[in-house]
Amino acid sequence: MDFNLTDEQQMLKQSARDFGKKHLEPLSLEIDHKSIFPASNIKKLAKMDFMGLFYPDEYGGLGMDFLSYILILEELSRYCASTAAVLAAHCSLAAYPIYKWGSEEQKTTYLPMLCLGEKLGGFALAEPGDAPAYAPDKVVATKDGETYRLNGKKYYVSNGGVADIYIVFAVTDPTAGMKGLSAFVVEGNTSGVTTDKYIEKMGLRGMPTTEMAFDNAKASLLGTLNQGSAMIQEILACAGVAFGAIATGICQTALEASIKYAKERVQFGGPIARLQAVQWMLADMAANTHLSRLAIYQTVNLFEEGKSFITEAAITRMFVAKASVDVCMQAVQVHGGYGYSKEMIIERLLRDVKGTMVSENSSEFPQAVIAGNLLR
Ligand SMILES: Cc1cc2nc3c(=O)[nH]c(=O)nc-3n(C[C@H](O)[C@H](O)[C@H](O)COP(=O)(O)OP(=O)(O)OC[C@H]3O[C@@H](n4cnc5c(N)ncnc54)[C@H](O)[C@@H]3O)c2cc1C
Repeated sequence: MDFNLTDEQQMLKQSARDFGKKHLEPLSLEIDHKSIFPASNIKKLAKMDFMGLFYPDEYGGLGMDFLSYILILEELSRYCASTAAVLAAHCSLAAYPIYKWGSEEQKTTYLPMLCLGEKLGGFALAEPGDAPAYAPDKVVATKDGETYRLNGKKYYVSNGGVADIYIVFAVTDPTAGMKGLSAFVVEGNTSGVTTDKYIEKMGLRGMPTTEMAFDNAKASLLGTLNQGSAMIQEILACAGVAFGAIATGICQTALEASIKYAKERVQFGGPIARLQAVQWMLADMAANTHLSRLAIYQTVNLFEEGKSFITEAAITRMFVAKASVDVCMQAVQVHGGYGYSKEMIIERLLRDVKGTMVSENSSEFPQAVIAGNLLR
């Protein structure tokens, strides 16, 4: 496997970095402090053609490879992880299921507007109170002629309230638990869809997460009836890699800021970078960032070659979840008291990085996927 980036990928990576530095970094503090949805950033991403980069041009995308998308997420998250998370939810959690399982009509209706950034995508799986299909207010779908009607509640909907097109999972066979789930496309302005409550989060505060209620809301079936569970596994694996790239971008910023600080901060007559304890933290941070990146690129490679990638995505997720939090904790430590201060970005990196890796469904948590495959 060749990990060298093509000239085109390198140029794209550089343009995403320049874009992030110029447009995302200046607003990132305010977006985090005030939990602002970065609408102007998303418009600019659309102008850069970043909203549907790896989808075919016949559906409004740029027809680029999946790794290019991952590289962009990594670069953008160095400056504003919330903006990168909005993009990842839009591309991986909303557009991807339509591209993978949608009818030709659903693809031609929804993908161009999503890929061009005219509309934003959201994802509704989790339910308050219990796992999907078991929760007291679970979303249930009933057939209504050619379409379906949804009733029930979701929570923690990424891009909730600001998205125009949602992927919603609902019960279609009440006797089968999670195996009785199906996926639906729901338009945000459909009668009977309401965004109930904005959830204040510890990190990724610019990506809105909300509760949503469905009251006889019209929905169109996506893919095959009662096949939602298998779709969830693939969607979360694909999105896990994207959020892993965001975690890695955050780690890169934490590492670079820590190296700079260690060289500049003087204690007991010299820079703290001369102290072995500090050097070892920097070495740990560099190793964890590097290995996270390699694991992500290898999983992306499998995905692009059309090979099975679910177990590798789970291994990557399990590693990155721990490694990325370790990196950002060490960045706080290298920065001493300043690392804990809201005046510097370091504490935000720690809060954001934690958010990238808790979004998996508990029934899909990586250890269960890995062990299930090992013991098959
Ligand atoms: C930033 C962010 C974005 C999100 N975005 C979305 C979104 O777009 N759409 C969406 O639908 N949801 C989203 N979520 C919700 C997310 O899917 C849930 O938080 C996740 O599914 C975990 O479910 P839970 O919160 O109910 O935790 P629980 O399942 O209650 O887990 C609590 C603890 O118990 C452990 N646990 C649970 N079950 C088991 C088990 N069987 N064995 C061992 N340990 C177990 C878990 O590992 C965890 O430590 C998001 C969450 C976050 C934080």
